[in-house]
Order: sequence, then C-alpha cells, then structure tokens
Amino acid sequence: MSGGALLRHLVDTYAGSVPEIASRLAATGWARGSADDALGRVPVLRKSELARVQAAHPPWGGMLGDGCVPVAAFMSSGGIVEPLVPRMVERLAELLRAAGFGPGHTVLNGFGYHVTPAGLLFHEALAHAGCTVLPGGGQNTAILVDYAQALGANAFVGIASHLKILFEQQPALSIRLAMAGAEPHGDSIRAALLQQHGVRSVDMYGFAEAGVIAASCAEAGALHFHADALTEVLDPETDLGVPAGGEGELVVSLDNPGFPLLRFGTGDRVRIDPARCACGRSGSLQVLGRVDPSVRVKGMLLHASQLRRFVAAVGGAAVRIEVTRHDDRDGLAVTLRPGSAPLPGALALEAAFREACRLRADSIEADLALTADSCVIDDRRRG
Ligand SMILES: [Zn+2]
Repeated sequence: MSGGALLRHLVDTYAGSVPEIASRLAATGWARGSADDALGRVPVLRKSELARVQAAHPPWGGMLGDGCVPVAAFMSSGGIVEPLVPRMVERLAELLRAAGFGPGHTVLNGFGYHVTPAGLLFHEALAHAGCTVLPGGGQNTAILVDYAQALGANAFVGIASHLKILFEQQPALSIRLAMAGAEPHGDSIRAALLQQHGVRSVDMYGFAEAGVIAASCAEAGALHFHADALTEVLDPETDLGVPAGGEGELVVSLDNPGFPLLRFGTGDRVRIDPARCACGRSGSLQVLGRVDPSVRVKGMLLHASQLRRFVAAVGGAAVRIEVTRHDDRDGLAVTLRPGSAPLPGALALEAAFREACRLRADSIEADLALTADSCVIDDRRRG
C-alpha cells in the first residue's frame, strides 16, 4: 500500500471507531470524502502528549478501536499504557523469519516479561515463527547461562550488551543468531559478538505503541522498515517534511487493527538515507537521538534547552511548564524544583526566566515533588 493509500485506509477505517483519531480529524475540518491532500494536514499525535490524552479518557485515551480486546496490556515510564494486539506479534514474527529465526531455534529471551511489553511481544512472535522460547527475562546472569546451556539455546533476543555479558560468563554458549538492538553503541557490541563468538546479530527499531517495525539486513546491517509502516521525517518545529535524507522527527502511521497509529510522533530524531542498499531495498534508518521538545507559546518557540538554561541559572533541580489557553490568550505556568541552595526571590526568578526563555511566565512556583533533573513541557491547549 502506498503512503497516501495507507493514510486514506486508516482514516476511512478508523474515523468512526477510534475517538482519538476522530477528534484529530475533526480539528482539521476533515470530513468523509475530503480530498487526499487533507490527510497530510492531520495533526501529529506526539508520544509526549500521551500522558495527557490518556488521563483525559482513561485508560486508553480513546485510542483503541470499537470492540478491540488487547491480548495483553502494559505500562511504560510516565504511566503510559500500551496494548498488545495480534498484528504486532505477526509483524515481528515476519521480521524474525526474515532474519533467519524459525523451527530448530531454541531462543533465550532476555527481555523482561513484566509490566513493559518487549518480553511477551518477543515470546509470542518467536512462538509464531516456530521457535522454542526460553523465557529468561530479568533473571541473573548465572541462572540464564545455566538455563541456556541446559536447553541448548542457539539464538537470543534482547539487548546486545546483555548477550555480551552472558558470553563473558560462559564463552561456550552455543548462541549464534541474535536479534539484539535498541541501545546506543549497539553496532560495536554486535561487531564484537560476531568476531569473538560467531554470533550474527540483527539490529531492530520499535517503540511500545507500535511494536517492532524495522530490522537490519544481512547484506549491509542497515535498518529497513517493515512494509506495513508509513514513515515521515518532519521538522519538529513546523511539522513540515524535511528534504529526502534530512534530519527530523520520525512520524509513523501503522495499521495495527484495534490500535492504529495515525501520524504518531515518536520523539526520535532520525535520518532516513534514501539510497539503495546492497540488499536491494531503499531507505535506511539511522536513529540519532531524541528530538528536543519544544512548544510554541505566546507566539514564541520555547525549547527544553532554554528551560534547562533557566534551571541552571537559578540553581534549580528540575522544571515543568504548563501551557494553557483562555480567552484566546496563552497562559504559561512554571514549576521549579529547588536545588540544594534556596531559590532566589520572585523578581529574580522572573528576570532569569525572561533572560533564558525570552518569554514572561505568568507564575513561577517551587515544588519539591518534581522528579529531579526532569524537564517537562505540558501543553494543555489541545484535546
Ligand atoms: Zn539493506
């Protein structure tokens, strides 16, 4: 399905049955029969907005389709809940099969099984692909090594650095195939695993709301998206597409029946190399980091980096801003966690905020309950 066709399919299928999608479409004036070009203007739903969206309509924020009963449900950091739906399992099974996993593989699953999704998602997908799964999860290294040895594990899924530690404990492990990604510096660890232990390791990319949507090819080790995923790379400040090969925020549309994603902003800063890979596919994903969160308030763009400068200037330990809108005017409330020394007085705080952020705050209050080192932008003007 082409990109435009997938957006059209998502909108036609879910506009009437997924309230969160219906409300975003309504905000653009979209109506059944609207021209396709209207779909490119559907506002992006950002991962950073999920806590607010879900709190307004708990637990799912109106993101589940009518009659969808998740296979399982999880909760990630920040209290965001995520369902597991069957298409996530089938898609990962397809990626695992393409990477060489299948009958004859006994796979040690190093992902955690409890509360967060990776362990159970991989378990189900490996079973779907015909593998025997050893649900290792968060057990200690000695137990996992004994477990893998006793049952002759010949493959692994999890974090590459975890597999490296298992080999350090027991170099005689018979694991030779791994899907082991989702961590910084994974490339060098995977290269060392191949060189020292003959383990062919596949990298991957995914996030809790989508499941795993990309895996690396054997030919070049480049991450390619599953054909299901429609990806856009947008300038996070304008929400306009960047030129091919440019850096920006990864925005994903994906039909997971029951839990579809329509223009979901991952918060990941990426570039997608449009060149043809040695494997014949085009489009190689590079994950560069996180997008610095920002918000347009009172006509000015306010970046998290400016907020951090403000925190440093006044000797604080964390900050949270809340942006509201009443009578067509933006309101900006700032909460600051004091550091080890007392905060300066109110006038000095206001001046420091103006200096760092080029904006006037309507209120600045101290709150020891903020998580240390956090920098939260809570935009309450939508939804
Ligand atoms: Zn490739």
